[in-house]
Amino acid sequence: MKDAHAVLLAARFRSEDALTVGRTPEITASAAMAAHEILDRAIANIATEIEEVGPVACRKGCNWCCHQHVAVLGAEALAIYLHIKGTPAEARVRASAPEIVGRDARARRLAKIPCPFVDGETGCAIYAIRPNRCRSVYSRDSEYCFRRYEGAENEPVAADKPIPVEPVERGDAAMAGLRIALDGRGIPAEPVELVHALIIFVENPDAAEAYAAGEDVLRSARLPAVLDNLPAQTKLTG
Ligand code: SF4
Repeated sequence: MKDAHAVLLAARFRSEDALTVGRTPEITASAAMAAHEILDRAIANIATEIEEVGPVACRKGCNWCCHQHVAVLGAEALAIYLHIKGTPAEARVRASAPEIVGRDARARRLAKIPCPFVDGETGCAIYAIRPNRCRSVYSRDSEYCFRRYEGAENEPVAADKPIPVEPVERGDAAMAGLRIALDGRGIPAEPVELVHALIIFVENPDAAEAYAAGEDVLRSARLPAVLDNLPAQTKLTG
């Protein structure tokens, strides 16, 4: 499976299948994980083609791109919340709230506020369950990522350098498939910001059940639709 449309359909059908068995937070989270599995497989299938154009520079411990808002779907945030619940990572999310809540995307990036999951030992403390966007944005030039971290903006980029478009396209397709599946079950499917959404789950014990039941509890974490049009070098595209 290499084609982006095939990824959309596979993610949609696998997520829809997952959602047919009930409406619990765990079942809703499993739909997101099903879409992630499809995405990982699709990216693995094109890995050789991506490397042929130029080697990928992403390495464990390099986290210049982990200091900005990350667009996720509510089901992805829910899966991460269930994964970190009761662990030190949950406390890190809670502690990050004062710095992150209330900052818009640009202010957060310019202030260089890291994702609470940036981890010196593992690179990403939730690597196995990281969001779609963190699975699909790669770079062939870590200097470019560093310049963006340092605040560079509007730097011209070629179609395939430094950010290869193929994985981003497949990430968008997997997200679109998951969105259709969630929407079909009446579960809110608008893109939300990762840490803002997690803070809502962490601070409100009933929010996970309510989200799985179709309530729009993540409304205040929603990203403006205009973000769908941002270029792929950010982790913001929904
Ligand atoms: S979830 Fe992991 S990969 Fe994604 S921004 Fe946070 S630390 Fe980086």
